Amino acid sequence: VPELPEVETVVRCLRPALVGRRFRGVQVTGKPLRRKWNAASTRLLLAGPEIHAVERRGKWILIRLSTADCMLVHLGMTGRLQVVASGQPLATHTHLVFPLAPGDGELRFRDPRRFGSLEIMSSQALAAFLERRLGPEPFDLAPESFAAALGRTRRCLKAALLDQRVVAGLGNIYADEALFQARLSPFRRASGVRRRDADALLRAIRRVLVRAIEKKGSTIRDYMYDENGQGGYQTEFRVYQRTGAPCRQCRRPICRAVLGGRSTHYCPACQRVARSRVKPRQAALAT
Ligand SMILES: [Zn+2]
Repeated sequence: VPELPEVETVVRCLRPALVGRRFRGVQVTGKPLRRKWNAASTRLLLAGPEIHAVERRGKWILIRLSTADCMLVHLGMTGRLQVVASGQPLATHTHLVFPLAPGDGELRFRDPRRFGSLEIMSSQALAAFLERRLGPEPFDLAPESFAAALGRTRRCLKAALLDQRVVAGLGNIYADEALFQARLSPFRRASGVRRRDADALLRAIRRVLVRAIEKKGSTIRDYMYDENGQGGYQTEFRVYQRTGAPCRQCRRPICRAVLGGRSTHYCPACQRVARSRVKPRQAALAT
């Protein structure tokens, strides 16, 4: 599932291929996405808006248009957004094709499992949408704000990190890896974490994300940042999907627990549980 480093990598690939070019319509192909494409968006793209910027916010891709509208894309589990030559045969599960000008090429969105989304919103609607859903980016987040956000929740640390309003962009992989690097148990109650540990956790989050972006993300099953590009960070996982394998620090086997339907990977020796532990059964990931 694409998280911040994967989405950032896709954005960096798309930016040089899109910025300064124009959309000139859309072809809706294949099965509809969960949120259906609308006629107003088709009319907007037929008018030929120029692409001003390609940005990332949390796990969302923002393609900003000269009309002050924005194409907002979420890759879901298996979504791919790529610029390809116009003549190239359509891959199966391609939902939307956006021809570009000038020159050849088109932006294509395909998503076999259809958990992703692509829609066009006004900048105003977009700002309100992001404001509702997302907290700060990990690189902009002040340590005191992060510590305060942890202090406000009685959930466990893992659940707090997955909450996009606490910090935007983390998912299962990078939350597990950051907790390991900070040597904090995922079951610790977030509000019981000392300031020093909160600061260490924020540093670990940033370190893990920076390295994962350098490696162009992690490819476990589906994620590719362009037609053939696979991420490389999966070879550096310390805990994620290493259940039973020896911890790279202490050689004890890595454990896995299921919290609210999501697996959590951790080293029980390196990530000791303090008194403010949330019992795994109570540690539902939902609020
Ligand atoms: Zn260990």
